[in-house]
Amino acid sequence: MDILDIAVVGGGPIGLACAIEAKKAQLSYLVLEKGCLVNSLFNYPQHMTFFSTSEKLEIGDIPFVSVNPKPKRLEALEYYRRIQQQFQLNVKLFEQVVAVKKTDYYFSIQTTKSAYKAKSVIIATGFYDKPNLMNIPGEELPKVKHYYNDPHYYANQHVVVIGSSNSSVDAALETYRKGAHVTMVVRKNEISSRVKYWVRPDIDNRISEGSIRAYFNSCLTAIEEASVHIDTPEGPITIPNDFVLALTGYKPDFDFLRKINIELSKDELLIPQHNPTTMETNIPNLYLAGVVCGGMNTHLWFIENSRIHARQIVKHIQEHRK
Ligand code: FAD
Repeated sequence: MDILDIAVVGGGPIGLACAIEAKKAQLSYLVLEKGCLVNSLFNYPQHMTFFSTSEKLEIGDIPFVSVNPKPKRLEALEYYRRIQQQFQLNVKLFEQVVAVKKTDYYFSIQTTKSAYKAKSVIIATGFYDKPNLMNIPGEELPKVKHYYNDPHYYANQHVVVIGSSNSSVDAALETYRKGAHVTMVVRKNEISSRVKYWVRPDIDNRISEGSIRAYFNSCLTAIEEASVHIDTPEGPITIPNDFVLALTGYKPDFDFLRKINIELSKDELLIPQHNPTTMETNIPNLYLAGVVCGGMNTHLWFIENSRIHARQIVKHIQEHRK
C-alpha cells in the first residue's frame, strides 16, 4: 500500500479546498467522504439561500457564477461538483473514516470500506451530522425532525418550530406559506440577531400580525402523538401538533475527535486544540480545517472564513518536508 502525503477526512467545501491545494503542491492525497460529495450542503433545506455572496464561497480561485448575489443550495451543489470534476480531485464517496491511528512513520486510516496510510491527515468533518437534542419525552417520535427539507410536506399540518436561528425562521416562513399552522417556540425573548437582515422584517411582521404564533421565553417540555406541551411565562400550555421541527443546531462529532486523541478545551465550547497559524493539532501532522475547528461554537467558522485553512495547512506540510 502506497503512503499518501495527505488524507483528507470529509468532502465538504473545505475538504475539497484542501485537496485542491494538495494537488497544486504536487502532493499525493485522497479525500474520504462518508456521504455524497458536499454531503452537508446536499442535506440543507432544498430551497435554502446562502447568507454569503457567491464569490465568498469560491475555492481554488474558480469563479462561482450565480444568477443572484446570494446563491441557492442547488447552485452550490453544481459549483462544488464542477470543482471536483475540473480539478479531477481524488475523492472516495460513501466511505466513512472510522479510525485514524498514528504510528511512528505515518497514520493508518480505517474506513468502512478499506484502509489507507498517509503522512499527514486533515480532519474537515464539519458539524452537521450531530443535532443538538432537547432531551425531552417524545423527542424520539418520528414526527420530530432535526433536519428540515421541503415545506410542501407540512401543508395543512400543525407545525411547531423550535428556535429562532436562520434555519428555524426559514422553516417557519416556508411552511407557513405552504399552508401549515406554524407555532414558534423560542427560548430567548426575541428572534436571533443573526437572522439574515433581508428575512428579519418578514418574520417580525408575520409574528406581529399573528399569522405565525410565537412563544418567547418558552420551551418545549414534552411531545406526544397529537400535541406538545410548552412552558411559557404565563404558565404551561398544550397545543395540537402534527410535526416538530427541532432546528436546535448541530455539533461536531466529538466522539470521533476524542477517539483520534485530539484534545478538546475543558470549557463547554470543547474547542479542538490546534495552532491557528498552521492548523496542526496536538498530534503532529494531524490538522483541522473548516467549521470543525470551532467546537461547540459552530458560528465561528464557515465556508467564507475557513477556506483559507487549506493554504495554511498545505504550506505547513510543504515547509515540513524541506
Ligand atoms: P461540511 O460542509 O459539513 O463538510 C464535512 C464533511 O465531512 C461532510 O460532507 C460529512 O459528510 C463528512 N464527514 C463527517 N464525518 C466523516 C467521517 N468520519 N468520514 C468521512 N467523512 C465524514 N457558510 C458560509 O460561508 N456561507 C453561508 O451562506 C452559509 N450558509 C449556511 C446555511 C445553513 C443552513 C447551514 C447549516 C450552514 C451554512 N453555512 C454557511 C455554514 C457552512 O455550510 C459550513 O460552515 C460548511 O459546510 C463548512 O464546510 P466544511 O467543509 O468545514 O464542513
